[in-house]
Amino acid sequence: MATLNWTPDSWRSKPIAQDVIYDDTEHLDKVLKKLRQLPPLVTPNEIDRLRTQLADVAQGKAFLLQGGDCAELFEACSQDPIEHKLSLILLMSLIILHGSRLPVIRIARIAGQYAKPRSKPTEVVDYPTADGKTEKKEVMSFRGDNVNGFDVTDRKADPERLLGAYFHSASTLNYIRALLSSGFADLHQPRNWSFSHVHSPQLQKAFEEVIDSLMDSLDFMRSATGGSNPGGSRGGTETVDFYTSHEGLSLEYEEALTRGPRTDVRPESSGSLSRSNSLLPRNRRSSANARSDASSSPKKFYNLSSHFIWIGDRTRQLDGAHVEYFRGIQNPIGIKIGPTMKPEELVQLLDVVNPDNIPGKVTLISRYGADKIEKFLPAHIEAVKATRHIVVWQCDAMVSLTKSSETDPSLKTRHFVDIIQEISTSMRIHKEQGTILGGVHLELTGEVNDDGFSVTECIGGSMELEDKDLSFNYRSHCDPRLNYEQSLDVAFLVADNLKA
Ligand code: PEP
Repeated sequence: MATLNWTPDSWRSKPIAQDVIYDDTEHLDKVLKKLRQLPPLVTPNEIDRLRTQLADVAQGKAFLLQGGDCAELFEACSQDPIEHKLSLILLMSLIILHGSRLPVIRIARIAGQYAKPRSKPTEVVDYPTADGKTEKKEVMSFRGDNVNGFDVTDRKADPERLLGAYFHSASTLNYIRALLSSGFADLHQPRNWSFSHVHSPQLQKAFEEVIDSLMDSLDFMRSATGGSNPGGSRGGTETVDFYTSHEGLSLEYEEALTRGPRTDVRPESSGSLSRSNSLLPRNRRSSANARSDASSSPKKFYNLSSHFIWIGDRTRQLDGAHVEYFRGIQNPIGIKIGPTMKPEELVQLLDVVNPDNIPGKVTLISRYGADKIEKFLPAHIEAVKATRHIVVWQCDAMVSLTKSSETDPSLKTRHFVDIIQEISTSMRIHKEQGTILGGVHLELTGEVNDDGFSVTECIGGSMELEDKDLSFNYRSHCDPRLNYEQSLDVAFLVADNLKA
Protein backbone atom coordinates (compact mmCIF):
# COMPACT_ATOMS: atom_id res chain seq x y z
CA MET A 1 0.00 0.00 0.00
CA ALA A 2 1.24 3.57 -0.75
CA THR A 3 2.51 5.42 2.29
CA LEU A 4 0.57 8.61 2.82
CA ASN A 5 2.39 11.86 1.97
CA TRP A 6 5.75 10.17 1.89
CA THR A 7 8.53 10.59 -0.63
CA PRO A 8 12.16 9.48 -0.34
CA ASP A 9 13.04 13.09 0.52
CA SER A 10 10.10 13.99 2.78
CA TRP A 11 12.46 13.57 5.76
CA ARG A 12 14.14 16.82 4.68
CA SER A 13 11.31 18.91 6.12
CA LYS A 14 11.66 17.36 9.61
CA PRO A 15 14.05 18.11 12.46
CA ILE A 16 17.04 15.82 12.28
CA ALA A 17 19.17 14.42 15.11
CA GLN A 18 22.86 13.53 14.69
CA ASP A 19 23.03 15.69 11.57
CA VAL A 20 26.23 16.14 9.60
CA ILE A 21 26.88 19.64 8.25
CA TYR A 22 28.81 19.72 4.99
CA ASP A 23 30.51 23.03 4.15
CA ASP A 24 30.75 22.27 0.45
CA THR A 25 27.13 21.69 -0.52
CA GLU A 26 27.84 21.77 -4.26
CA HIS A 27 30.19 18.88 -3.79
CA LEU A 28 27.54 17.09 -1.73
CA ASP A 29 24.94 17.60 -4.50
CA LYS A 30 27.35 16.18 -7.07
CA VAL A 31 28.04 13.12 -4.94
CA LEU A 32 24.35 12.51 -4.30
CA LYS A 33 23.58 12.82 -8.00
CA LYS A 34 26.23 10.21 -8.73
CA LEU A 35 24.89 7.92 -5.99
CA ARG A 36 21.40 8.12 -7.47
CA GLN A 37 22.78 6.91 -10.79
CA LEU A 38 24.79 4.01 -9.39
CA PRO A 39 23.21 0.54 -9.41
CA PRO A 40 21.50 -0.83 -6.31
CA LEU A 41 23.53 -3.08 -4.02
CA VAL A 42 20.71 -5.48 -3.18
CA THR A 43 17.38 -6.35 -4.79
CA PRO A 44 13.73 -5.99 -3.73
CA ASN A 45 13.33 -9.78 -4.02
CA GLU A 46 16.06 -10.38 -1.47
CA ILE A 47 14.53 -7.80 0.84
CA ASP A 48 11.06 -9.34 0.55
CA ARG A 49 12.53 -12.76 1.28
CA LEU A 50 14.16 -11.48 4.43
CA ARG A 51 10.92 -9.86 5.57
CA THR A 52 9.12 -13.18 5.14
CA GLN A 53 11.82 -14.97 7.11
CA LEU A 54 11.59 -12.37 9.88
CA ALA A 55 7.86 -13.03 10.06
CA ASP A 56 8.84 -16.61 10.93
CA VAL A 57 11.19 -15.29 13.62
CA ALA A 58 8.34 -13.28 15.14
CA GLN A 59 6.37 -16.52 15.50
CA GLY A 60 9.24 -18.47 17.03
CA LYS A 61 9.80 -20.56 13.88
CA ALA A 62 13.31 -19.24 13.26
CA PHE A 63 16.06 -17.42 15.16
CA LEU A 64 17.70 -14.14 14.13
CA LEU A 65 21.45 -13.76 14.51
CA GLN A 66 22.70 -10.25 13.72
CA GLY A 67 26.25 -9.17 14.29
CA GLY A 68 29.32 -7.41 13.06
CA ASP A 69 31.50 -4.42 13.65
CA CYS A 70 30.51 -1.48 15.74
CA ALA A 71 31.75 0.57 12.78
CA GLU A 72 33.28 -0.82 9.62
CA LEU A 73 36.38 0.93 8.33
CA PHE A 74 37.25 1.38 4.67
CA GLU A 75 40.73 -0.01 5.36
CA ALA A 76 39.22 -3.26 6.71
CA CYS A 77 37.57 -3.91 3.35
CA SER A 78 39.89 -6.71 2.33
CA GLN A 79 39.91 -10.45 1.97
CA ASP A 80 40.81 -11.71 5.45
CA PRO A 81 38.52 -9.53 7.57
CA ILE A 82 35.56 -10.31 5.31
CA GLU A 83 36.25 -14.06 5.35
CA HIS A 84 36.76 -14.07 9.11
CA LYS A 85 33.54 -12.21 9.77
CA LEU A 86 31.57 -14.41 7.41
CA SER A 87 32.99 -17.60 8.87
CA LEU A 88 32.36 -16.43 12.42
CA ILE A 89 28.70 -15.71 11.71
CA LEU A 90 28.36 -19.04 9.90
CA LEU A 91 29.90 -20.89 12.84
CA MET A 92 27.69 -19.12 15.33
CA SER A 93 24.60 -19.86 13.28
CA LEU A 94 25.57 -23.49 13.03
CA ILE A 95 25.94 -23.77 16.80
CA ILE A 96 22.56 -22.08 17.36
CA LEU A 97 20.89 -24.19 14.67
CA HIS A 98 22.31 -27.34 16.19
CA GLY A 99 21.16 -26.46 19.71
CA SER A 100 17.78 -24.95 18.92
CA ARG A 101 16.78 -26.97 15.84
CA LEU A 102 15.50 -23.68 14.43
CA PRO A 103 16.52 -22.19 11.09
CA VAL A 104 18.86 -19.27 11.74
CA ILE A 105 18.44 -16.02 9.80
CA ARG A 106 21.84 -14.39 9.45
CA ILE A 107 22.13 -10.62 9.12
CA ALA A 108 25.57 -9.07 9.33
CA ARG A 109 26.42 -5.51 10.27
CA ILE A 110 28.45 -5.36 7.08
CA ALA A 111 28.73 -3.72 3.66
CA GLY A 112 27.49 -0.32 4.85
CA GLN A 113 27.92 -0.02 8.65
CA TYR A 114 30.06 3.09 8.32
CA ALA A 115 28.10 5.86 10.08
CA LYS A 116 28.10 6.26 13.86
CA PRO A 117 25.95 8.40 16.14
CA ARG A 118 28.02 10.11 18.86
CA SER A 119 27.11 11.34 22.32
CA LYS A 120 29.08 14.59 21.70
CA PRO A 121 29.43 16.32 18.31
CA THR A 122 32.96 17.52 19.11
CA GLU A 123 35.88 16.43 21.26
CA VAL A 124 39.12 17.99 22.50
CA VAL A 125 42.17 16.17 21.13
CA ASP A 126 45.95 16.48 21.00
CA TYR A 127 46.34 18.07 17.60
CA PRO A 128 49.74 17.96 15.84
CA THR A 129 51.37 21.35 15.25
CA ALA A 130 53.88 22.42 12.57
CA ASP A 131 56.83 22.15 14.99
CA GLY A 132 56.17 18.44 15.63
CA LYS A 133 54.46 19.03 18.98
CA THR A 134 50.76 18.89 19.84
CA GLU A 135 48.22 21.37 21.15
CA LYS A 136 44.73 20.88 22.59
CA LYS A 137 42.13 21.49 19.92
CA GLU A 138 38.39 20.92 19.63
CA VAL A 139 37.55 18.91 16.52
CA MET A 140 34.47 17.16 15.20
CA SER A 141 34.04 13.71 16.75
CA PHE A 142 34.78 10.73 14.51
CA ARG A 143 31.40 10.04 12.88
CA GLY A 144 32.38 6.97 10.87
CA ASP A 145 34.33 6.47 7.67
CA ASN A 146 31.48 7.72 5.49
CA VAL A 147 31.66 11.15 7.17
CA ASN A 148 35.20 11.93 8.35
CA GLY A 149 38.50 10.25 9.23
CA PHE A 150 39.58 8.74 12.56
CA ASP A 151 42.82 10.72 12.34
CA VAL A 152 42.33 13.97 14.28
CA THR A 153 43.59 16.03 11.32
CA ASP A 154 40.91 14.57 9.06
CA ARG A 155 37.74 15.33 10.97
CA LYS A 156 36.03 17.65 8.50
CA ALA A 157 32.91 16.08 6.95
CA ASP A 158 33.80 15.20 3.36
CA PRO A 159 30.93 14.34 0.96
CA GLU A 160 33.28 12.22 -1.16
CA ARG A 161 33.27 9.70 1.69
CA LEU A 162 29.62 8.86 0.87
CA LEU A 163 30.82 7.56 -2.47
CA GLY A 164 33.58 5.74 -0.62
CA ALA A 165 30.88 4.07 1.50
CA TYR A 166 29.03 2.94 -1.61
CA PHE A 167 32.09 1.49 -3.32
CA HIS A 168 33.43 -0.22 -0.18
CA SER A 169 29.97 -1.68 0.45
CA ALA A 170 29.79 -2.87 -3.16
CA SER A 171 33.22 -4.45 -2.93
CA THR A 172 32.46 -6.18 0.36
CA LEU A 173 29.14 -7.47 -0.88
CA ASN A 174 30.65 -8.64 -4.13
CA TYR A 175 33.18 -10.77 -2.27
CA ILE A 176 30.53 -12.15 0.09
CA ARG A 177 28.34 -13.12 -2.86
CA ALA A 178 31.33 -14.72 -4.59
CA LEU A 179 32.27 -16.71 -1.49
CA LEU A 180 28.73 -17.92 -0.94
CA SER A 181 28.27 -18.98 -4.54
CA SER A 182 31.61 -20.84 -4.45
CA GLY A 183 30.67 -23.14 -1.62
CA PHE A 184 32.17 -21.19 1.32
CA ALA A 185 29.01 -21.78 3.35
CA ASP A 186 28.74 -25.47 2.48
CA LEU A 187 27.57 -27.21 5.63
CA HIS A 188 29.72 -30.19 4.66
CA GLN A 189 32.86 -28.08 5.15
CA PRO A 190 32.39 -26.24 8.47
CA ARG A 191 35.92 -27.08 9.61
CA ASN A 192 37.15 -24.71 6.89
CA TRP A 193 35.57 -21.68 8.53
CA SER A 194 38.73 -20.38 10.21
CA PHE A 195 38.16 -22.40 13.34
CA SER A 196 41.93 -22.66 13.72
CA HIS A 197 41.91 -19.24 15.46
CA VAL A 198 40.14 -20.69 18.45
CA HIS A 199 42.71 -21.41 21.14
CA SER A 200 40.40 -22.54 23.93
CA PRO A 201 40.45 -26.40 24.13
CA GLN A 202 37.05 -26.30 25.80
CA LEU A 203 35.51 -24.43 22.85
CA GLN A 204 37.35 -26.62 20.33
CA LYS A 205 35.83 -29.69 21.96
CA ALA A 206 32.31 -28.27 22.10
CA PHE A 207 32.56 -27.30 18.44
CA GLU A 208 33.88 -30.71 17.37
CA GLU A 209 30.82 -32.27 19.02
CA VAL A 210 28.52 -29.98 17.04
CA ILE A 211 30.30 -30.84 13.78
CA ASP A 212 30.25 -34.59 14.41
CA SER A 213 26.57 -34.55 15.18
CA LEU A 214 25.87 -32.35 12.16
CA MET A 215 27.81 -34.67 9.84
CA ASP A 216 25.76 -37.61 11.14
CA SER A 217 22.52 -35.75 10.38
CA LEU A 218 23.71 -34.76 6.91
CA ASP A 219 24.74 -38.36 6.14
CA PHE A 220 21.38 -39.55 7.38
CA MET A 221 19.51 -37.02 5.23
CA ARG A 222 21.62 -37.91 2.20
CA SER A 223 20.85 -41.61 2.58
CA ALA A 224 17.19 -40.93 3.33
CA THR A 225 16.84 -38.91 0.12
CA GLY A 226 18.84 -41.31 -2.01
CA GLY A 227 21.83 -38.99 -2.32
CA SER A 228 20.02 -35.87 -3.56
CA ASN A 229 20.27 -32.46 -1.95
CA PRO A 230 17.82 -32.84 0.91
CA GLY A 231 17.02 -29.18 1.28
CA GLY A 232 16.14 -28.09 -2.24
CA SER A 233 17.19 -24.64 -3.30
CA ARG A 234 16.40 -22.55 -0.21
CA GLY A 235 16.97 -25.16 2.42
CA GLY A 236 20.01 -26.63 0.64
CA THR A 237 23.14 -27.41 2.59
CA GLU A 238 25.63 -26.01 0.05
CA THR A 239 24.91 -22.36 0.68
CA VAL A 240 22.86 -20.14 2.97
CA ASP A 241 20.91 -16.90 2.91
CA PHE A 242 23.07 -14.12 4.25
CA TYR A 243 21.82 -10.55 4.61
CA THR A 244 23.45 -7.17 5.14
CA SER A 245 22.46 -4.36 7.49
CA HIS A 246 23.57 -1.02 8.86
CA GLU A 247 22.26 1.86 10.91
CA GLY A 248 20.31 4.14 8.56
CA LEU A 249 21.90 7.27 9.93
CA SER A 250 23.08 9.25 6.88
CA LEU A 251 19.75 10.04 5.33
CA GLU A 252 21.26 11.73 2.27
CA TYR A 253 22.95 8.42 1.45
CA GLU A 254 19.88 6.32 2.27
CA GLU A 255 17.66 8.56 0.13
CA ALA A 256 20.03 8.31 -2.83
CA LEU A 257 19.92 4.52 -2.68
CA THR A 258 16.12 4.43 -2.32
CA ARG A 259 14.48 3.24 -5.48
CA GLY A 260 10.89 2.89 -6.63
CA PRO A 261 9.71 1.13 -9.77
CA ARG A 262 12.16 1.43 -12.69
CA THR A 263 10.66 4.62 -14.12
CA ASP A 264 11.75 6.48 -10.99
CA VAL A 265 15.46 5.73 -11.22
CA ARG A 266 16.27 7.30 -14.57
CA PRO A 267 19.33 9.54 -14.44
CA GLU A 268 18.27 13.15 -14.16
CA SER A 269 18.61 15.35 -17.21
CA SER A 270 19.75 18.32 -15.15
CA GLY A 271 20.84 18.97 -11.62
CA SER A 272 18.25 21.73 -11.25
CA LEU A 273 16.37 22.04 -7.98
CA SER A 274 12.63 21.78 -7.76
CA ARG A 275 10.59 24.69 -6.49
CA SER A 276 9.28 22.65 -3.58
CA ASN A 277 12.85 22.09 -2.48
CA SER A 278 14.00 25.65 -2.74
CA LEU A 279 12.84 26.66 0.73
CA LEU A 280 15.01 24.03 2.35
CA PRO A 281 18.58 24.72 3.42
CA ARG A 282 21.00 24.11 0.54
CA ASN A 283 22.53 21.01 2.04
CA ARG A 284 19.07 19.47 2.48
CA ARG A 285 17.73 20.02 -1.05
CA SER A 286 17.06 17.16 -3.40
CA SER A 287 17.37 17.55 -7.14
CA ALA A 288 15.12 14.55 -7.79
CA ASN A 289 12.12 16.57 -8.97
CA ALA A 290 9.93 13.58 -9.68
CA ARG A 291 10.42 12.27 -6.18
CA SER A 292 9.05 15.40 -4.53
CA ASP A 293 5.59 15.05 -6.03
CA ALA A 294 3.78 12.73 -3.65
CA SER A 295 0.72 12.41 -5.89
CA SER A 296 2.72 10.91 -8.77
CA SER A 297 4.97 8.77 -6.55
CA PRO A 298 5.20 5.08 -7.35
CA LYS A 299 3.71 2.86 -4.67
CA LYS A 300 6.66 0.91 -3.31
CA PHE A 301 10.10 2.18 -2.42
CA TYR A 302 12.99 0.02 -1.29
CA ASN A 303 16.25 1.10 0.28
CA LEU A 304 18.57 -0.88 -1.98
CA SER A 305 21.79 -0.10 -0.10
CA SER A 306 21.15 -2.99 2.29
CA HIS A 307 18.59 -5.64 3.14
CA PHE A 308 17.86 -4.37 6.64
CA ILE A 309 18.49 -0.99 8.23
CA TRP A 310 17.81 0.16 11.74
CA ILE A 311 17.01 3.42 13.54
CA GLY A 312 19.36 4.14 16.41
CA ASP A 313 18.24 4.95 19.92
CA ARG A 314 19.44 8.54 19.39
CA THR A 315 17.47 9.18 16.19
CA ARG A 316 14.09 7.58 16.83
CA GLN A 317 12.15 10.80 17.63
CA LEU A 318 8.51 10.43 16.52
CA ASP A 319 8.47 13.75 14.68
CA GLY A 320 12.06 13.43 13.44
CA ALA A 321 13.64 12.97 10.04
CA HIS A 322 14.75 9.37 10.59
CA VAL A 323 11.31 8.05 11.53
CA GLU A 324 9.86 9.96 8.57
CA TYR A 325 12.33 8.27 6.21
CA PHE A 326 11.93 4.80 7.69
CA ARG A 327 8.13 4.80 7.56
CA GLY A 328 8.14 4.82 3.77
CA ILE A 329 10.44 1.98 2.79
CA GLN A 330 9.56 -1.66 2.19
CA ASN A 331 12.66 -3.06 3.91
CA PRO A 332 12.34 -4.80 7.23
CA ILE A 333 13.64 -2.32 9.79
CA GLY A 334 15.07 -2.39 13.28
CA ILE A 335 14.35 0.12 16.05
CA LYS A 336 16.76 0.37 18.95
CA ILE A 337 14.94 0.82 22.24
CA GLY A 338 16.63 1.72 25.49
CA PRO A 339 15.69 2.94 28.96
CA THR A 340 14.53 6.35 27.70
CA MET A 341 11.82 4.86 25.48
CA LYS A 342 8.40 5.33 27.06
CA PRO A 343 6.02 2.38 26.52
CA GLU A 344 3.31 4.61 24.98
CA GLU A 345 5.88 6.21 22.69
CA LEU A 346 6.93 2.76 21.51
CA VAL A 347 3.36 1.94 20.49
CA GLN A 348 3.03 5.27 18.65
CA LEU A 349 6.25 4.55 16.82
CA LEU A 350 5.01 1.13 15.70
CA ASP A 351 1.79 2.73 14.45
CA VAL A 352 3.83 5.18 12.39
CA VAL A 353 6.38 2.81 10.86
CA ASN A 354 4.11 -0.20 10.40
CA PRO A 355 0.51 1.02 10.18
CA ASP A 356 -0.56 -2.07 8.24
CA ASN A 357 1.09 -4.41 10.75
CA ILE A 358 3.09 -6.21 8.06
CA PRO A 359 4.61 -9.37 9.58
CA GLY A 360 8.40 -9.29 9.76
CA LYS A 361 8.53 -5.55 9.13
CA VAL A 362 9.75 -4.39 12.56
CA THR A 363 12.44 -5.79 14.80
CA LEU A 364 12.61 -4.17 18.23
CA ILE A 365 16.25 -4.23 19.27
CA SER A 366 16.24 -3.76 23.03
CA ARG A 367 19.41 -2.40 24.64
CA TYR A 368 19.11 -1.51 28.28
CA GLY A 369 22.18 -2.92 30.02
CA ALA A 370 22.28 -5.96 32.29
CA ASP A 371 21.46 -3.82 35.32
CA LYS A 372 18.41 -2.14 33.75
CA ILE A 373 16.74 -4.77 31.61
CA GLU A 374 14.61 -6.07 34.47
CA LYS A 375 13.19 -2.58 34.98
CA PHE A 376 12.40 -1.66 31.35
CA LEU A 377 11.82 -4.73 29.18
CA PRO A 378 8.60 -6.01 30.85
CA ALA A 379 6.82 -2.66 30.37
CA HIS A 380 7.85 -2.51 26.72
CA ILE A 381 6.64 -6.06 26.12
CA GLU A 382 3.33 -5.38 27.86
CA ALA A 383 2.76 -2.22 25.82
CA VAL A 384 3.29 -4.06 22.54
CA LYS A 385 1.24 -7.06 23.66
CA ALA A 386 -1.72 -4.75 24.23
CA THR A 387 -1.69 -3.77 20.53
CA ARG A 388 -2.20 -5.67 17.28
CA HIS A 389 1.50 -5.33 16.46
CA ILE A 390 3.55 -8.45 15.89
CA VAL A 391 7.25 -7.70 16.19
CA VAL A 392 10.53 -9.54 16.32
CA TRP A 393 12.11 -9.04 19.74
CA GLN A 394 15.89 -8.95 19.61
CA CYS A 395 18.38 -8.38 22.43
CA ASP A 396 21.35 -6.10 21.83
CA ALA A 397 23.45 -6.90 24.84
CA MET A 398 26.32 -4.58 23.96
CA VAL A 399 25.52 -0.95 23.52
CA SER A 400 24.70 0.29 26.97
CA LEU A 401 27.42 -1.52 28.88
CA THR A 402 30.60 0.20 27.78
CA LYS A 403 33.11 0.90 30.59
CA SER A 404 36.65 2.31 30.75
CA SER A 405 39.50 -0.15 31.23
CA GLU A 406 41.01 0.02 34.72
CA THR A 407 44.57 -0.45 33.46
CA ASP A 408 44.29 1.90 30.49
CA PRO A 409 41.36 4.33 30.85
CA SER A 410 41.78 5.37 27.18
CA LEU A 411 40.39 1.95 26.17
CA LYS A 412 36.67 1.27 26.30
CA THR A 413 35.72 -2.26 27.28
CA ARG A 414 32.78 -4.50 28.02
CA HIS A 415 32.49 -7.41 30.41
CA PHE A 416 31.46 -10.72 28.88
CA VAL A 417 29.44 -11.62 31.99
CA ASP A 418 27.29 -8.49 31.57
CA ILE A 419 26.62 -9.42 27.97
CA ILE A 420 25.49 -12.95 28.70
CA GLN A 421 23.53 -11.81 31.72
CA GLU A 422 21.51 -9.39 29.57
CA ILE A 423 20.79 -12.10 27.00
CA SER A 424 19.78 -14.69 29.62
CA THR A 425 17.61 -12.18 31.46
CA SER A 426 15.94 -11.18 28.22
CA MET A 427 15.16 -14.81 27.42
CA ARG A 428 13.72 -15.36 30.88
CA ILE A 429 11.55 -12.24 30.81
CA HIS A 430 10.15 -13.13 27.40
CA LYS A 431 9.29 -16.61 28.66
CA GLU A 432 7.52 -15.14 31.69
CA GLN A 433 5.60 -12.73 29.47
CA GLY A 434 4.61 -15.42 26.96
CA THR A 435 6.56 -13.69 24.20
CA ILE A 436 9.61 -14.85 22.28
CA LEU A 437 13.13 -13.52 22.21
CA GLY A 438 13.60 -13.97 18.47
CA GLY A 439 17.22 -12.98 18.16
CA VAL A 440 20.42 -11.41 19.37
CA HIS A 441 22.28 -8.38 18.06
CA LEU A 442 26.00 -8.29 18.76
CA GLU A 443 29.06 -6.20 18.03
CA LEU A 444 31.66 -8.78 17.13
CA THR A 445 34.64 -9.36 14.92
CA GLY A 446 36.53 -12.28 13.48
CA GLU A 447 39.69 -10.13 13.10
CA VAL A 448 42.97 -11.66 14.23
CA ASN A 449 46.53 -10.34 14.35
CA ASP A 450 49.37 -11.74 12.22
CA ASP A 451 49.94 -14.52 14.78
CA GLY A 452 46.30 -15.58 14.58
CA PHE A 453 45.24 -14.07 17.92
CA SER A 454 41.78 -12.62 18.25
CA VAL A 455 41.20 -9.03 19.25
CA THR A 456 41.23 -8.20 22.95
CA GLU A 457 38.50 -5.63 23.50
CA CYS A 458 36.02 -7.29 25.89
CA ILE A 459 36.93 -8.86 29.24
CA GLY A 460 36.09 -12.49 30.07
CA GLY A 461 34.74 -15.43 28.07
CA SER A 462 36.34 -18.84 27.66
CA MET A 463 39.69 -17.17 26.81
CA GLU A 464 39.48 -15.59 30.27
CA LEU A 465 40.71 -12.21 29.04
CA GLU A 466 41.55 -9.81 31.85
CA ASP A 467 41.69 -6.04 31.99
CA LYS A 468 45.49 -6.14 31.71
CA ASP A 469 45.24 -8.11 28.42
CA LEU A 470 43.18 -5.48 26.61
CA SER A 471 46.10 -3.56 25.08
CA PHE A 472 47.54 -6.79 23.57
CA ASN A 473 45.40 -6.66 20.42
CA TYR A 474 42.94 -3.81 20.85
CA ARG A 475 41.89 -2.64 17.37
CA SER A 476 38.50 -0.97 17.55
CA HIS A 477 38.28 2.70 16.62
CA CYS A 478 34.84 2.78 18.09
CA ASP A 479 33.28 0.48 20.69
CA PRO A 480 34.72 -2.83 21.96
CA ARG A 481 33.60 -5.97 20.13
CA LEU A 482 33.32 -9.61 21.11
CA ASN A 483 36.22 -11.54 19.62
CA TYR A 484 36.10 -14.90 17.82
CA GLU A 485 36.01 -17.07 20.94
CA GLN A 486 33.70 -14.80 22.92
CA SER A 487 31.23 -14.76 20.02
CA LEU A 488 31.21 -18.55 19.90
CA ASP A 489 30.73 -18.60 23.68
CA VAL A 490 27.61 -16.48 23.20
CA ALA A 491 26.37 -18.80 20.45
CA PHE A 492 26.69 -21.81 22.77
CA LEU A 493 24.86 -19.95 25.52
CA VAL A 494 22.02 -19.00 23.20
CA ALA A 495 21.84 -22.56 21.86
CA ASP A 496 21.66 -23.96 25.40
CA ASN A 497 18.94 -21.53 26.38
CA LEU A 498 16.89 -22.30 23.29
CA LYS A 499 17.26 -26.02 23.96
CA ALA A 500 15.98 -25.65 27.51
C1 PEP B 1 24.88 0.77 17.19
O1 PEP B 1 24.25 -0.29 17.20
O2 PEP B 1 25.91 0.93 16.51
C2 PEP B 1 24.38 1.90 18.02
C3 PEP B 1 25.00 3.05 18.04
O3 PEP B 1 23.31 1.60 18.74
P1 PEP B 1 22.35 2.51 19.63
O4 PEP B 1 21.52 3.30 18.67
O5 PEP B 1 21.55 1.51 20.35
O6 PEP B 1 23.19 3.38 20.51
